[in-house]
Amino acid sequence: MIKFELENYLADLEYLVNIDSNASDKQGVEKIATFFKQKFSKNGWFIKEHYASTSLGPCVEISNTQDEQYDLLLMGHMDTVFEVGTAGKRPFRISGKRAYGPGVTDMKSGDLIGAYVMDILENEQALAPLKICLDLNPEEEKGSKHVRQWLENLSMRSKYVIVLEHARGDNEHVQARKGLGRYTLKFKCIAAHAGNNPELGRSAITEMAYWIGKLTALTDFAEGFTVNIGTVAGGEAANIVASEADMVVDLRLVRLEQEQKFNDCISELKEHAQKKEVKIEVSGGITRPPMFVTAETEIFMTLVNNVSESLAMPCKWCKAGGGSDGNFSAALGIPTIDGFGPLGGSAHTDNEYLEVEAIEPAAKLLLEIVKKLRQKLYNL
Ligand SMILES: [Zn+2]
Repeated sequence: MIKFELENYLADLEYLVNIDSNASDKQGVEKIATFFKQKFSKNGWFIKEHYASTSLGPCVEISNTQDEQYDLLLMGHMDTVFEVGTAGKRPFRISGKRAYGPGVTDMKSGDLIGAYVMDILENEQALAPLKICLDLNPEEEKGSKHVRQWLENLSMRSKYVIVLEHARGDNEHVQARKGLGRYTLKFKCIAAHAGNNPELGRSAITEMAYWIGKLTALTDFAEGFTVNIGTVAGGEAANIVASEADMVVDLRLVRLEQEQKFNDCISELKEHAQKKEVKIEVSGGITRPPMFVTAETEIFMTLVNNVSESLAMPCKWCKAGGGSDGNFSAALGIPTIDGFGPLGGSAHTDNEYLEVEAIEPAAKLLLEIVKKLRQKLYNL
């Protein structure tokens, strides 16, 4: 059996972390893509890539098959939230038991685990006939807007999805993530002099306040459904009945049906506005559907639990508030689990870290999950 080479892994991770790769830094993301393409285009592996936008790095698919259908899709992303120059200011370093640097845990370490595990299994000849693919997204941190269709298409062609975002907290994996909606509401009303003829005006601010009250009241913490009015702006001067106002709303949901609750409320509020003779424009929608556990996901989780118990590393699961690309695959009904990159924390901050001792166990767990899946699907 080929051993996991931690020193090689750390050298590769250092190389990747020291390349800035904000999604808007096309060249940086391309360098990350080139690393994976060069490293893993051996062994007869297949690399597909395309550009979803001229301003972004490539969408990369690395797999052991030319078949369009995959048994298992491993999801990763190449971009980080950090601006160009960050890696120069605080490059990869190991201090004590932790590694630091931009993107060290979100999620260059996870991408690398996926690639290493595929490599080890290939060398062990323990992969075929299982059809596996690692996808590398160039703009996850920007919400995957341009690549969503590609990710959904990939998901539809896959039986199972494992997202390689980092494990968190007490080495927990992620079984569910909230969905996200983003809306902009513009109120266009009638201006009037506040002293001379206020009765002729229709205040955009008064109407917006009414909407804020109704929308905020939809929040149900127990249900995991929240409406947050993130920003408001409006009005011209204290002595004018405001003719314009607008606000931006953030919606979080755990089930897709919950969107209806929001839409119904908007419809009622539009009727109210019509009666008041004011105009409202609502734009936006659900940008990431919620990732939730289906009966099929539960079966997949049981397989993972059995593997982890056999390794004496019992699995812990959690629900996360933030989204990942797993939201897209889960919403399409593809069994999806997340958080199988090595344990880390403080993502998106200067203190972002990776637990070095968690790297090998994460590789081992993923490797055994893949083997088990191969056994299940092909009776091997
Ligand atoms: Zn991430």
